[in-house]
Amino acid sequence: MNHTDTKLPVTPVKYAYLDEQFADVEAYFADLRRLVKTGEFTIGPFVETFEKKFAAYLGVKHAIGTNTGTGALILALKAAGVKPGDEVITVSMTFTATVAAVVYTGAIPVMVDVDPTSWTMDPSLVENAITPRTKAIVPVHLHGLMVDMEAIKSIADTHGLKVVEDAAQAHGAQRNGRNVGALGDAAAFSFYPGKNLGALGEGGAVITNSSEIADSVQILRNWGAQKKNHPDRIGFNCRMDALQGAILNVKLKYLEEWLESRRRVAKLYDSALEVRGITKPTEMPRSRHTYHVYAACLPQRDQHISALQ
Ligand SMILES: *Cc1c(COP(=O)(O)O)cnc(C)c1O
Repeated sequence: MNHTDTKLPVTPVKYAYLDEQFADVEAYFADLRRLVKTGEFTIGPFVETFEKKFAAYLGVKHAIGTNTGTGALILALKAAGVKPGDEVITVSMTFTATVAAVVYTGAIPVMVDVDPTSWTMDPSLVENAITPRTKAIVPVHLHGLMVDMEAIKSIADTHGLKVVEDAAQAHGAQRNGRNVGALGDAAAFSFYPGKNLGALGEGGAVITNSSEIADSVQILRNWGAQKKNHPDRIGFNCRMDALQGAILNVKLKYLEEWLESRRRVAKLYDSALEVRGITKPTEMPRSRHTYHVYAACLPQRDQHISALQ
């Protein structure tokens, strides 16, 4: 019997790089067949395998798969001890989820400006934003460029603050020989399809070197229960689908290749884009920009947008 629904549209229009991302579609189907037989459709062995591989790729002790990047941020903040009424320092130059996640925990987001060259959190402004209620700092590795984590970490240590990195756009980004998540207490990733490592749907992960934070995230993502149906706190349903774990296992193998190809294209843009007054993205010293977005500033932005359209 043929179950293919011929009425479903199959023309992919949303992402130009879709063909490349579907390189290993046969491997997806092989895993999907295995998955249907196991019947474990949420977390389970496929997700555990992905968690191990993703942690190894980033050189950290723990990775915990979640439903979305937003879920990963909320769980990481809560596991780091952020409570209602606490203040959390972050940036407004980010995707809305960064600030929403802080608000969902009941904490108060406090914005600092970004550095005009890197477009990421300016560490020199953080100290002034600290009050006795400050609990954590959430730097955002915007567009795939890592924040100056040494500077952020040293401020956090001086003031006894936690650092939760928003790495939703920065899989594989590096600075000063360090990976994303190496200096923070935890880092949150998104596997939304448009991200540099995307699932076939929604997905996210928290990475950390702290067993305490890892345990807490694992419990919080699964209704606050260490033992099934025995919750010991109010948790969430933020589990990762087994299907997404299986897909991400396959795609993770290609990530380095894809990042290198993005970097090559970005260099091409760097040398070929000649528009009066343009400001191109700056790859900061000793950094590996992964160009989730190649953003540029133009004095006549709206005119350029309509001309390109
Ligand atoms: C995509 C993104 C998120 C949220 O991830 P979702 O998986 O869409 O929930 C958070 N922060 C930043 C900076 C993002 O780009």
